Amino acid sequence: MVFLGPPGSGKGTQAKKLSQELGLMHISTGDILRDAVKNQTELGKKAKEYMDRGELVPDNLMIALIEEVMPKEGGFILDGFPRTVPQALALEEMLRGYKRDVDKVFLFDLSEEVVVERLSGRLTCSQCGAVYHRKYNPPKQEGVCDLCGGKLIQREDDKEEVVRRRYRVYKEQTSPLVEFYQKKNKLIRLDASQDIQEVNKRLLEVLRDGH
Ligand code: ADP
Ligand code: AMP
Repeated sequence: MVFLGPPGSGKGTQAKKLSQELGLMHISTGDILRDAVKNQTELGKKAKEYMDRGELVPDNLMIALIEEVMPKEGGFILDGFPRTVPQALALEEMLRGYKRDVDKVFLFDLSEEVVVERLSGRLTCSQCGAVYHRKYNPPKQEGVCDLCGGKLIQREDDKEEVVRRRYRVYKEQTSPLVEFYQKKNKLIRLDASQDIQEVNKRLLEVLRDGH
């Protein structure tokens, strides 16, 4: 399945939870890119300036990356990919090669103002990438990751000015995928303004009942 929605709409939070609950693989292109930047790989060097500006990394790099990490069997959640129509077309073709298809696309619906509030309070573990929120999902001990003890930081691209640009980029380049998947009858809209437990409950309900 694919998780689609603006930055800060809770895709990563839900993908981590659901992948554990259902034994699915969680593929976050944002996490993979941040690791690549940290380890200064070739991909990381190419991607960094786009990420810092809040722009999308070019399609050819992203498609090559997904080809590399895509599992050939077993269920998985794509979190942050596809983000453009060419990426969605490449994904279709790739899956067709394995005689597979995207099953469901969940749209995390959230307004720009809530996005800005969520991202300005987001804390990310500098070691393991776990995600918290100052108000809505605080760590047990301030500044310290519950899972690995790593230091919690604010992502460079979570500063308000970059967040607003990322939201604009979402509207312009990613939101056409809503219609793309709607036409294929794969889109399921979620009210992402509900709290974390509520959104998780709704996801499980749709997966159980099919609607
Ligand atoms: P995305 O992966 O879509 O960019 P995240 O999962 O990282 O979004 O969530 C963005 C921020 O909002 C994080 O700080 C997270 O803890 C918080 N958050 C996620 N889901 C909710 C929710 N349902 N209600 C309130 N805060 C949330
Ligand atoms: P995220 O963690 O999903 O918010 O992604 C962080 C940044 O990584 C984005 O702002 C983009 O610069 C880049 N990125 C992640 N996924 C993609 C993608 N599918 N296509 C292009 N850029 C991406």
